[in-house]
Amino acid sequence: MSQNQFIPLCVPHLKGNELKYVTECVETEWVSSAGKYVNLFEEKIAELTGAKHAIAVVNGTAALHISLLLAGVQPGDEVICPTATFIAPINAVRYLFADPIFMDCDQYYNIDVLKVRDFIANNTTFNNGFTYNAKTGRRIAAIIPVHIFGNAVQMEDLVDLCAERNIRIVEDATESLGTRYTSGRFKGKSAGSIGEFGCLSFNGNKIITTGGGGMILTDDSKLAQKARYLTTQSKDDEIRYIHNEVGFNYRLTNLQAAIGVAQVESFASILKTKKENYLAFKEQIGLIPGLSIADQPSFADNNCWMYAMQIDVAKFGADREQVMKYLADNKVQSRPLWYLNHLQKPFKSFETFKITKALEMLETTLNIPCSANLTASEVTRVVQVLKSLRNGK
Ligand SMILES: *Cc1c(COP(=O)(O)O)cnc(C)c1O
Repeated sequence: MSQNQFIPLCVPHLKGNELKYVTECVETEWVSSAGKYVNLFEEKIAELTGAKHAIAVVNGTAALHISLLLAGVQPGDEVICPTATFIAPINAVRYLFADPIFMDCDQYYNIDVLKVRDFIANNTTFNNGFTYNAKTGRRIAAIIPVHIFGNAVQMEDLVDLCAERNIRIVEDATESLGTRYTSGRFKGKSAGSIGEFGCLSFNGNKIITTGGGGMILTDDSKLAQKARYLTTQSKDDEIRYIHNEVGFNYRLTNLQAAIGVAQVESFASILKTKKENYLAFKEQIGLIPGLSIADQPSFADNNCWMYAMQIDVAKFGADREQVMKYLADNKVQSRPLWYLNHLQKPFKSFETFKITKALEMLETTLNIPCSANLTASEVTRVVQVLKSLRNGK
């Protein structure tokens, strides 16, 4: 590889049976939303996550939309959301004409469970079996814990709190396929299999991809059946076209699922490389004064989807924007944390609660290349570029 080869942030790794299975779909003309790969992909994801049911959908955002709908989120309800996340879960809340309440993050970029507890304890009331926001009088119907960058959310306290207060949990596990709890009450459980619903994404930058795709996970057979119904246009009689509810055209195609099945076959090796590169970066970047790779929660085996580099600007001598530019000049792609949702134009007017850490994380975080096919020499090159910036070349 040339010294000057561009190193992207995160690209798919499609070196297994992807082409073979897609070719089979085309040759047999099973390309649309029915076909063996859709079922097979659902089975494989259910097996991988331990969820009883997995329903394939067009993308992770659609999975969130339908899960929130089935969790009973109604127009005028409120939903507790992290501010530090990709915008999709907040959009899904708004699709249902509900309002987000924005929470801070913890040191792993995940929703700060202590602050959620603080908010529930001091800013809400519990009446007739439901939790209400004391300020707005509106029902708090649900919460969306997002397992950011594959880091497992501390779910134990959240599950207890939400059970006490009848707040439904829709896990956004779109970044955390493969993340498993290794201690505590949920030992052995996968991210996305703990809440009433879990949502996965197979977008191009996720740990495995179908080009675009998503999955709804649930252990509840009735809800699974309803999810399948709603995502296929609520068809009650498919011969006479009888529809008793407003439905959605949200089903994944066989073509996409075929890629997904092949990706699942490669998943163990993708996970292994992700972890090796995470550890290599953690060690080598940790030696550069002012830089470090973020820790992960110790109660889980995290999937290492994204490598969050943290910059101590005073010690390192350059800020996030300067580091990003220097890396780009040296053909290494990097990205800051998503701009915080409570600051985004469509969401500015919604409630926030004690957000401080997320603002700090936004300023100091830069994600560095994490593709599953990133080589050891590319890891070294990224480290060298960072060292040269620190040392003024
Ligand atoms: C990727 C992502 C989604 C949405 O997935 P799509 O498949 O792109 O719709 C939702 N939430 C988070 C946190 C994500 O990173």
